[in-house]
Amino acid sequence: MSRPPFLQIDPPQRLLMGPGPINAHPRVLRAMSADMLGQFDPEMTFYMNETMALYRQVFMTENRWTFLVDGTARAGIEAALASLIEPGALTLILRTGRFGLLLSEIAERLGADIRVLDLPWGETATPDQIEEAIKQHRPRVFACIHGDTSTTMAQPLDGIGELCRRYDVLSYADVTATLGGMPVRTDQWGIDVISGGLQKCMGGPPGSAPITISDRAADFIMSRRHVEAGIRSSSQTDGSRIRIASNYFDLAMIMDYWSEKRLNHHTEATSMLYAAREAACIVLEEGLENRFARHTQASTALIAGLRAMNLEIFGQDAHRMTNVTGLWIPENINGEAVRTRMREDFGIEIGTAFGPLAGRIWRIGTMGYNAVKHKVLLTLGALEAALAAEGYPVPRGAAVDAALACWP
Ligand SMILES: *Cc1c(COP(=O)(O)O)cnc(C)c1O
Repeated sequence: MSRPPFLQIDPPQRLLMGPGPINAHPRVLRAMSADMLGQFDPEMTFYMNETMALYRQVFMTENRWTFLVDGTARAGIEAALASLIEPGALTLILRTGRFGLLLSEIAERLGADIRVLDLPWGETATPDQIEEAIKQHRPRVFACIHGDTSTTMAQPLDGIGELCRRYDVLSYADVTATLGGMPVRTDQWGIDVISGGLQKCMGGPPGSAPITISDRAADFIMSRRHVEAGIRSSSQTDGSRIRIASNYFDLAMIMDYWSEKRLNHHTEATSMLYAAREAACIVLEEGLENRFARHTQASTALIAGLRAMNLEIFGQDAHRMTNVTGLWIPENINGEAVRTRMREDFGIEIGTAFGPLAGRIWRIGTMGYNAVKHKVLLTLGALEAALAAEGYPVPRGAAVDAALACWP
């Protein structure tokens, strides 16, 4: 690719059908071009409060503490873990894929005493397996991933929060890949802290991490507040607690900033707040249940189309995410050559894979703004042509026909 340097930004139009980021909804991009406000302007704090109310609905929770951490999804993960894990705290991490590994990498830097429940990539844990591990290790904190895009499997979380409470364990789940696409039932699950991102099923750009925190977790985090003489009240401080090591990711300080106290912390990332607010408005206008159904329909049709090309779907049907699908790269087919053809000839991106699945599966997303009929059909048609060009004996026309038949 050669062209003169430093031209005005004008990226090619791509259809992003990988595991994220995906194309942002145009309304979200328009919201981001709105003018700046001072961070304590009543108009700005009004938008902040609205954003909290909107995300309570998106997370299906009554949690008072529901707001944004500025940064990509990983910022939400890091804020949650830095605030929940005290140095030396026994922390149990469920690892079934790349993002479970990330949780343990972050926890390790925080000085956690880590125990893991490891499962092969493509599997999920049963509540019994989680309870056994909790009984065996007696952790202070349990952390897991809801939809691990690296394996395209969704970990069932019903009952897990309650289980953790029974053993006095604080719980955390990363829902970056599922928020706005699959049910994230915060209150029903009873998970204490849940964080997400915008660039997957929420249909926004990367750069904001919505988070929700139960009262019991908020009390714990507030008890670790950094007391600065004269600046913060010490009334809620338990002297035995070690303060949160990160300043930027100190959820106690961020809660003070989002509370009526409006204690200055960072400057709220104004354009990202507009984006997150608009993305949540769009999700709720469509309706959560309608949205989940749209994702299920898109991935069902995608899978029908892939199977019509005699391609093998990765993982267990019972625990599949409905917004990203893994499929085995056929033998003797060069996965990267197919991806290159799709990008160069059709402007469509599909995903590769990590770790033990690298070079073995592709991952195709049906997320948010892209979980629609015509984009699924275009992707299948392009994949068919790319596979044929690489010498795979593909039954012509079968994929699009099979997928089309999935819509009424
Ligand atoms: C995509 C994804 C992330 C991404 O984090 P970023 O910091 O936004 O890159 C985190 N967790 C899961 C489960 C994901 O699928």
